[in-house]
Amino acid sequence: MKNKTKNILSLNFDQISHWLINRGEKEFRAKQLWPWLWAKRVKDFSLMTNLSKPLRKILAQNFCIKWPEVRDIKESKDGTVKFLLALEDEKLIETVLIPEKDHYTQCLSSQVGCSLACTFCSTGQMGFKRNMYSHEIAAQILVAQDYLQKKNSPKHLTNLVFMGMGEPLLNWKEVREALQIINHPLGLNFSRRKITLSTVGIKGVLQDFGQSKLALLAVSLHAPTQELREKIMPKAARWDLNELVSVLAEYPLARRERITIEYVLLGGVNDTPEHARQLVRLLSRVKCKINLIAYNPGPDSKYRAPEKKDILKFEQILWSKGMTAILRKSKGQDISAACGQLIVMSKLNS
Ligand code: SAH
Repeated sequence: MKNKTKNILSLNFDQISHWLINRGEKEFRAKQLWPWLWAKRVKDFSLMTNLSKPLRKILAQNFCIKWPEVRDIKESKDGTVKFLLALEDEKLIETVLIPEKDHYTQCLSSQVGCSLACTFCSTGQMGFKRNMYSHEIAAQILVAQDYLQKKNSPKHLTNLVFMGMGEPLLNWKEVREALQIINHPLGLNFSRRKITLSTVGIKGVLQDFGQSKLALLAVSLHAPTQELREKIMPKAARWDLNELVSVLAEYPLARRERITIEYVLLGGVNDTPEHARQLVRLLSRVKCKINLIAYNPGPDSKYRAPEKKDILKFEQILWSKGMTAILRKSKGQDISAACGQLIVMSKLNS
């Protein structure tokens, strides 16, 4: 039988509240219903025991509760878990759980594919299929939490990064709604300090995101000059690097908060001592810390991984100039779950 009812997860808190009030329900009903959906992860209205039976029935007649469907789960030797998820129109995306010492971080996707086609990133090769809806973005978390619960994992999911497929600020409307579900005390209830959104920097939208105060900011810079950035990420570089950096210098930050600058070291391309010195100069006015990522070669790689000695030299130059830099350890490479390796090559996605 074809399911014609609407997925209730696609309604935000206010929309559910209005729907209930229009049916003569009290205002606080939304506060009772919402946690069942997002905090308790219940998929059946009949289990919502603090709602009257008639209301549960009306809800079930009008709505369904649908999560993205898990099509495949791959577990890496290092504990990284990659999920292949099918959305309601059968489009496929990936999300990754990354184990840390005492918690998990989840890497979330925000678009099916990506339109930016950065030359070193696998997702770019897929092209852009469509934006994800806010509930699809947030429901990736439900899937991961459900998986951890079923495994009786002693470690909990506490941190989120928008570093999966897609450019979140090219889908800001839906990403913002998703962040509201994620932040909501009756929803997924993650504090903004535990959420990082990663972007190449989209003019105008980056400033809106800063004002929203919904998450911390990471910027994929990857080159210390406009000329080099144009070569390795031509579409992203349409916003001039110097303009981007001046916006970052003015970016609203709470006390002790810093912007994370992501820099993928591509062997022989952007990893020389001169590049490191240029980067120091470029970022002199920005309150930031630098995440260095050694390039993960994908299938048909154009680039090579940086050499250990070049990484160390690069890092050392940044430190000697008083910048905070850390080399991010890459996880999940054996299951293609590391940075820039998310790609779904499937007929279904064409
Ligand atoms: N579009 C957003 C979100 C994706 S985040 C952004 O670019 O920030 C994914 C991170 O992994 C980005 O910093 C991206 O530049 C980086 N990345 C992409 N391909 C990579 C690769 N092959 N090796 C290492 N890091 C890569």
